[in-house]
Formats: sequence, C-alpha cells, structure tokens
Amino acid sequence: MTMVIGLTGGIGSGKTTVANLFGDYGIDIIDADIIAREVVEPSTVGLNAIVGKLGADILLTDGTLDRSKLRDAIFNEQQLKDWLNGLLHPLIREKMLSNISKATSPYCLLVVPLMVENNLQTMTHRLLVVDVDESVQIDRTQARDNVAPEHVKKILMAQASRQNRNAAADDIISNNGNSAELKNKVAELHQKYIKMSHLY
Ligand code: ATP
Repeated sequence: MTMVIGLTGGIGSGKTTVANLFGDYGIDIIDADIIAREVVEPSTVGLNAIVGKLGADILLTDGTLDRSKLRDAIFNEQQLKDWLNGLLHPLIREKMLSNISKATSPYCLLVVPLMVENNLQTMTHRLLVVDVDESVQIDRTQARDNVAPEHVKKILMAQASRQNRNAAADDIISNNGNSAELKNKVAELHQKYIKMSHLY
C-alpha cells in the first residue's frame, strides 16, 4: 500500500501551496475539495439523492447543483444538514480510498481542510499540518479572497483551534515565512517521506 500523508491546516494557511510543491516532485495529490464536488456531479448517486430530497429546483439550468441554494436550504436546518452529511461523507470517503489505491507515486498526499474536525486523519499514516500565525492567516486570506477580516475570523472560529490541530500532527510545517523558505521545508519533508515510504 502507498503511504498516505494527510495534509491539513486552517483557512489560508497554505495547504494548496504546499500540496503544489509536493506535486512538483510527482507526488499524487488527492484533494477532498475536488472529490466533494465530484460526488455531486450530474448523474451521480449523490446528486440524484439530493434532487430526490429537495426537488429539481436545487439544480441550475445546466443540470448541475446550485450550491448557493443548497447552502441556503441547510442554513439553520440541522436535520437537513445531518442528512446531507450522512449522504456525502461516505461517498467522499469511498472516493478518497479508491483514489489512494490508484496512487502510483512513492507516497501520496490526502488534502483535507477539515481533517481534524472530521477525524479523517484515521485514513492516513501521518498527518502534516501547515501552521501559520493567525494574523498571517487573516492577511493572506483577505488578500486572496478580497474579504473583510471579520469574515475570515468567523471561519477561523468554526474550525479546529490551532492548538488542537497541531496536537494531532506528526509533522508541522510553519508557513509564516516566504515562498523560498516554504519550498526548502517541503524539500526536506519530501526526502523524509521518501525514506519512510519504503516501510509501507
Ligand atoms: P483555503 O483553506 O482557504 O483553501 P489554503 O490553506 O489552501 O487555503 P493557499 O490558498 O495555499 O491556502 O494560501 C493562501 C494564500 O496565501 C494564497 O494566496 C497563497 O498564494 C498565499 N501564500 C501561501 N503561502 C505563502 C507564503 N509562504 N508567502 C506568501 N504568500 C503565501
């Protein structure tokens, strides 16, 4: 089996940036955000079940899921939210496992923003957490998404605390520095993981 390195971190911590740096070494990346979209593509079990529950009004005219309508529909509707999670989480998990089994690089990365919150690190052999100071996190997310700091702070509050996330980590990559520093840290970790991958 391929060694699976879980990659997580708070909003705007640099998960995508770090994953891309590992990708430059030819490492297979399995991205939970992409899979979460794939399991509700037209003609999937996921989308069919959502339409069965909420009606065809939940679709855009091109037959794809109207995500903002779905967000509105589950807002403050805990039961519906639970139903949706009960539907999607197993489908996402199944697809993650299937993609892991197809990985051909010496190890693969499983990128899950809410890994610790959903206890998905159990699907990995090691957990790598991208860690940044909160002020850096807020500045970078604000600059990237052009949103107010309050908006970023609200999302931060809904995520696992920095302390809890770091406590679950086997490796922590600090991303307070510049891109060159980050690249060097990824290079070191890549060497470490390559060595470890022979054990799996
Ligand atoms: P999200 O959880 O919101 O998807 P993320 O954890 O994937 O975010 P990225 O999108 O990789 O984070 O990074 C957030 C922003 O910070 C991006 O605009 C990225 O280019 C920038 N960034 C990441 N690392 C650095 C760095 N070391 N120096 C400067 N900018 C950085």
